[in-house]
Amino acid sequence: MAMRFGNHLSMSGRLADAPERGRAIGCRAMQIFSGNPRGWEKAPLDPERVAEFHSAVAKARIDPVVVHATYLINLAAPDDEIYEKSVAALIDEIRRAATLGARFYVVHCGSHKGQGEALGRGRIVQALERAAGEVDLHNGPTILLENTAGTSNSLGTTFEDLAALLDSARVAQLGVCLDTCHALAAGYEIRTLAGVKETLDQFERALGMARLRCLHINDSKGDLGSHLDRHEHIGQGAIGNQGFRNFFSDRRLWNLPAILETPVDSPDDDRIDLWHTVELAVAAGAVPQEWMAFMPTAPVAHEPIGARKAPKRKVPVKAPAKKVLLRNAAAGKKRVAKKKAARRRR
Ligand SMILES: [Zn+2]
Ligand SMILES: [Zn+2]
Repeated sequence: MAMRFGNHLSMSGRLADAPERGRAIGCRAMQIFSGNPRGWEKAPLDPERVAEFHSAVAKARIDPVVVHATYLINLAAPDDEIYEKSVAALIDEIRRAATLGARFYVVHCGSHKGQGEALGRGRIVQALERAAGEVDLHNGPTILLENTAGTSNSLGTTFEDLAALLDSARVAQLGVCLDTCHALAAGYEIRTLAGVKETLDQFERALGMARLRCLHINDSKGDLGSHLDRHEHIGQGAIGNQGFRNFFSDRRLWNLPAILETPVDSPDDDRIDLWHTVELAVAAGAVPQEWMAFMPTAPVAHEPIGARKAPKRKVPVKAPAKKVLLRNAAAGKKRVAKKKAARRRR
């Protein structure tokens, strides 16, 4: 039992590029969009490219593949045109996710745009039931509703709200994807051992742990209860390194895939964030130490990721020469000896 980490990977280039990139940075799980995330139109999936994708995923031993819904979908939309487009896109994307061999399809609950939570909830439930009527979900992905940061009019911010949706939809294959950034922003204290326990206890009471199928691991630019949906590099936000260590230490999470959706400001960011996160998970016991050996090459000058904010010109990080280390060690020993002698004199 161990957490399986990976990144949300870009789908630029060939379909098989994403799992190949994932393999190169040490992903054991991955998330993708099934097409252009900012448009309603999606190019049909070419069977040959799909076959390449499957063999690249198998070769990389990536499991699971998670597909994230594209941004335009709003299952709670009060506007009929947007709503119908959203339901059609949902059905299409679930089919695409099935074609890509995805185990999970993650979608946000959406926004009722001020028309009220009851109306929004009804729309989401209906959308899920329509999708389940159109697609054979037994052989396709499980649909996961993602918790949100609680920006105005958004649904699915609290575990109770997610439970209300999951319980009213007559669809068997439903679950939850828990995003750490959104949870903190929504007011769940997930950075302290007591807070993690209390948060997961609340989840257990509202939904049951069996409903939790996937994690999104993101640090947060906004603080506890800020309702700000802004992801940050792992360790650099309001959750921080110790916060993640505490979060990862709860055994109830140890059987879950965990996807990073951290910012990509420079090409190496995914690799560095993933490396750093797996190290924290190893420290928390959520990942066996041996797995570090399978993480391809340490990030350059394995330094805290905050170092990337340093000026563009790279200063080579050089380990101090052995002589200096020995001299320091000798000086240290002398200091200790002196202190001991002083104590004896007293
Ligand atoms: Zn999301
Ligand atoms: Zn997320």
